Amino acid sequence: MRKEEKPNLLLHVCCAPCSPYVVELLSKEFHVTAYFYDPNIHPEEEYRFRLEEMKKMCAGMGLGIIEAEYDPDRWFQLVEGHEKDPEKGERCGICFRMRLEQAAKFAGENGFSAFATALSVSPHKDAKAINRIGREIGNAHGVVFLEADFKKKNGFKISVEKGRELGLKRQDYCGCVFSA
Ligand code: SF4
Repeated sequence: MRKEEKPNLLLHVCCAPCSPYVVELLSKEFHVTAYFYDPNIHPEEEYRFRLEEMKKMCAGMGLGIIEAEYDPDRWFQLVEGHEKDPEKGERCGICFRMRLEQAAKFAGENGFSAFATALSVSPHKDAKAINRIGREIGNAHGVVFLEADFKKKNGFKISVEKGRELGLKRQDYCGCVFSA
């Protein structure tokens, strides 16, 4: 199948070192565009760093990238009262929902056939929760959400190796101030 014949997929991405395997896998079936909407990342210097690493990854893999707005105030408002939640708790669900909602909206408004997220590649992320939220949001916006659990079949391990090959730096916390 030639590149231009593949359906367009908007892939929400967060951390560059976690994403190469997901990009490679999805690129077999889709023309993938990365979508960086991650206002959960704190502080802003870390956000800028992760964005630059993501741009490096996209350049290395021949992928287009869209940088959405960095609006951490809205993120803090949404997770208020959930500061002490453990990882994989309610705060993470709110965080997934906020980011996937924005990705679905962008995908719908810009003619993408489907949207997805690379989040489930992380062993710390609950793929069932991500897929349930993605499905609900996709239905609400009339855009197909591609359900997946990218950590399966050694997805995380392969991503780590590919990230290393691309010279990408791995972070030691998920992103928000509460996970740091
Ligand atoms: S731990 Fe990660 S997924 Fe959970 S709220 Fe913080 S940044 Fe979001």
